[in-house]
This record gives sequence, C-alpha cells and structure tokens, in this order.
Amino acid sequence: MNPTILQTTIAGSLPKPVWLAPPRQLWAPWLLEGVALAEGKRDAVRLALREQERAGIDIVTDGEQTRRHFVTGYLEHLQGVDFEHKVNMRIRNRYDASVPQVVGPVSRPRPVHADEVRFLRSETSRPVKFTLPGPMTMVDTLHDAHYGSRERLAMAFASILNSEARELEAAGADVVQFDEPAFNVYFDEVRDWGIAALMKAREGLKCRTAVHICYGYGIKANIDWKATLGSEWRQYEQIFPLLAQSAIDQVSLECANSRVPIELLALLRGKDVLVGAIDVATDLIESPEQVAGTIRAALKHVAPEHLYPCTNCGMVPLAREVAEGKLSALAAGAAIVRRELSR
Ligand code: ZN
Repeated sequence: MNPTILQTTIAGSLPKPVWLAPPRQLWAPWLLEGVALAEGKRDAVRLALREQERAGIDIVTDGEQTRRHFVTGYLEHLQGVDFEHKVNMRIRNRYDASVPQVVGPVSRPRPVHADEVRFLRSETSRPVKFTLPGPMTMVDTLHDAHYGSRERLAMAFASILNSEARELEAAGADVVQFDEPAFNVYFDEVRDWGIAALMKAREGLKCRTAVHICYGYGIKANIDWKATLGSEWRQYEQIFPLLAQSAIDQVSLECANSRVPIELLALLRGKDVLVGAIDVATDLIESPEQVAGTIRAALKHVAPEHLYPCTNCGMVPLAREVAEGKLSALAAGAAIVRRELSR
C-alpha cells in the first residue's frame, strides 16, 4: 500500500464540546469566559485533534474550535468593522442575517491566529491545515458603508489575509485554506476580481494553499437553495477553469450526495482536488464503501496523487458523535481505495 496517496483531510470545522458552546448551532455563543474560555478553547482543539487522529485523518485542522463562525470569527479582530451597529442583509442571495458594517478603512491591529497555529503545531505530529475566510466571502458577509466597491473592499481584505497567511505559514501551517463559498454564486465577480483577490491573499506563500468552494452547511436555507438548482449543479464549471490557471494548489469541493457532474473535476487538471466524500447535510453516517464509491468516481477524472478525500463542508452544525462516525468512515473509505490501487 502506498500511504502517501489519498491522504484524508476535512474541510475545516468540527462540532464543539457541549461545555464550550451549545451544539448544533451556527454562531453559537461561548459558554465560558475569560481565562476559562481561553483554556477551554485549547482543550477543545486537543480533543478535535485526538478525534481526527483516532479516526485516521492524515492532514488535520483545529476543528475551528476557537472561532464562533468562519467569517465573522475573523472580521471581529479587524479595525474598520463595526459589530455594535449591525444591519440585516441577505447572504449569498439566500438567507437574512444580522451582519456587521464596514465604517472605515479595514486594518488588522495585530496577528489573529498565529498563536493558535503554534499551539496546533505543538499538539500533533501530523501535517496541519488552517482555514481563513476568502476575501469575496468576507465582503459578502457584511454591509459596506465605506468603500462603495466590493472589489476595493475585497482587495483590502486580501492584503490583510496575506499578512495573516504568511504568519500562519511561519508558525507551522502546512496548508492555508481560504473558504470561498461565495465563488459558487457570483460568477461574473469571480472572473472580474474574485480570483485576483484570492491570488493576492496567497501571494508569496510557500506552503500549500487551498480554496474551499461549496454549497454551504446543511442548514435549511442552503438545502432550500440547492432544491432550486435543478438536476445538475454546474456552478463549478464556470470557476474551475479560472482556478486551474491560477496559482492555487488545492481545490476543496463537494461530491457526496451532490448533483455536481463528477466529470467537472477534470477541469481542475494539475491541481490537488479535495473531494468531498462526506455529506454534512445529513446525520446518516456514510459506510466506508459509500465513501470508497465517491473516491472511485472521482479517480476517473483526478490522478490519485492529486486526490485528497475530504468532507463536503464544515461539520460544525452536526452532533459530535455523528461527526466522529463520519471521520472514521472517511478514513476507512480512503483505505479501501488505497488498497485497491496498490494491488
Ligand atoms: Zn463549505
């Protein structure tokens, strides 16, 4: 068996322990404060690592245990973003949320996640991935009352993310991933400035860089939206050719139970493809054989050395035991196909 192919990883998040935040909610509030919260977050990261290691996940994350949300958890550290006076806004044309406002030039007073990556690095011997929101998705998760241009605001965020990502690399991150679900919605903007903003965010990095693009968490608004997309989801068809020409190393996407025509993966030739083989929108735990089936289908279009079995999206909204079962299924399914390939 060649242990270096079909390395498993996850999109990013895992459920939090019940003593840290109420389960099965996005934006769940912290149940601890002060010193207890800081220590609780570190303990939760340790647990997330142990769960991934025990399941057999090869490239691990902190399970995003230190953040309440994948976008606002970063925005709240920036200057120029007002969280006191939130406004209601549609997110990705899909659901309403109360979002912060940009009220002045955005800047990052101090590093946000470098200490967390150092801690993560010290707690595991496996390669580690750290996730950041992508510039376009950041723009799409707040109200702009200052820049007057989504592109200009995205470029300002990209420059902040680039400083952050360079520090994460220096702190020991093997992969820095930018989460860009907005890429699946605003195709013209992706072409006009979205890819350029992503490239600015990853500029100069020597570690692997990934972009995660998906159809969202398994929350009702996303499930309802997916029902409107028809029998074939061809959104990726518009963005994969642009990503294939870009400097990004890895693309994370959803394949399990989605209606994405699997042959679209061929548009990413030359890139690492993080194939979502775990559906995060259901509590049903995949069998290893189901995971293997998704990987085999993807192998028709992706070379084995470029294929990384992964989850469709973050698992934060799931029950903890469900997520643990899915981690184990992911690793076991990948092992089945690895054995087949080594015959
Ligand atoms: Zn996602």
